[in-house]
Amino acid sequence: MRWQGQKLGETDAAALPGLEDRSSVLRSVTTPEFAGMTFHEVLSKSALNHVPGASRMPFAWTINPYRGCSHACLYCFARGTHEYLDLDGGADFDSQIVVKVNVVDVLEKELRKGSWQHETVALGTNTDPYQRAEGRYKLMPGIIEALAASGTPLSILTKGTLIRRDIPLLVKAAERVPVDVQMSIAMYDDELQKSIEPGAPTTQARLDTVRALADAGFRVTVFLMPIMPHMTDSVAAIDDALTRIKATGARTVIYGALHLRPGVKSWFFQWLEKARPDLVSSYRGLYPGASAEAPKAYRQWLAKRARPLIRMHGLDGRHEDDYPQRGVRPGQGHVESIWRQGAVQSTGRPSAPVTFRTTGSSSAPPAQPMLF
Ligand code: SF4
Repeated sequence: MRWQGQKLGETDAAALPGLEDRSSVLRSVTTPEFAGMTFHEVLSKSALNHVPGASRMPFAWTINPYRGCSHACLYCFARGTHEYLDLDGGADFDSQIVVKVNVVDVLEKELRKGSWQHETVALGTNTDPYQRAEGRYKLMPGIIEALAASGTPLSILTKGTLIRRDIPLLVKAAERVPVDVQMSIAMYDDELQKSIEPGAPTTQARLDTVRALADAGFRVTVFLMPIMPHMTDSVAAIDDALTRIKATGARTVIYGALHLRPGVKSWFFQWLEKARPDLVSSYRGLYPGASAEAPKAYRQWLAKRARPLIRMHGLDGRHEDDYPQRGVRPGQGHVESIWRQGAVQSTGRPSAPVTFRTTGSSSAPPAQPMLF
């Protein structure tokens, strides 16, 4: 949504700097219950976003009721999209949340159109639909009901424990249409999780939410991503994560290495320099220049390590580099890399740490040795 595409002929002189001439903004709200946050309530002209066929996403339609995300994950790829709104991709992304307050009304109209083909609609592809703002605005119940009533399958990816509020509604929706639920849980060290995802619910709270969803009958997928080189990629760390995931009743794990897109990288490196200065040169080697993906050699090494562990735990596993479903796939706005639907072929035992070489391109010949 570009602000200029949402004009409804209104202006808000009280809006924040940079938003004064954005006539879709109804008002900007701060409240004591959400200290440090501002909600910019806007009227959206559309609810359903069409994903181009050439996109890497395996679904054709998305809904994003919020822009910006209070979960504040350092690695979030959607940070760059906030700059598109003339807000910054750092602290503004975490605290200046755009709320499409009329999204349910607009959605209902769009779903009534004769041209609607009832293709699956994905929620949580860019920002989290169950972030803190949802506690105030309660947009998701209306979205779920509208999709189910129109016979439209839906898929939800979240880190938000607030989804528990809507479990009864999701159960009812699942009686009418396919409902796919996915929880993103990447960090299993509490200190690291709080540092990297400072606004997100704790790992245990998310695992408990997966349990509640599984108990309600959903086949929950856990996104074990991003896996952070040198921080969460040891055999012990992956094994611990999978043990805890398995205990929730989740069926499937999708895993992948950290991506650092432009707009995210500088933000992430600011954190790394303070929190893990010992890893800065390694990360500069892994993600040199404008490269967003870890080198292919690292991703392959990670897959060799993770696959047998996933099999050992009796989970279905998919690597982000496995083949796609619809052409190609989502990013951790919410999901950062290729969300592929292929079955994992697991062979061999976890490998020992190995040496990789990287250059400015993840696929180019190696130049600098990097030790993992
Ligand atoms: S990765 Fe997801 S949960 Fe984290 S800040 Fe981005 S949208 Fe929010």
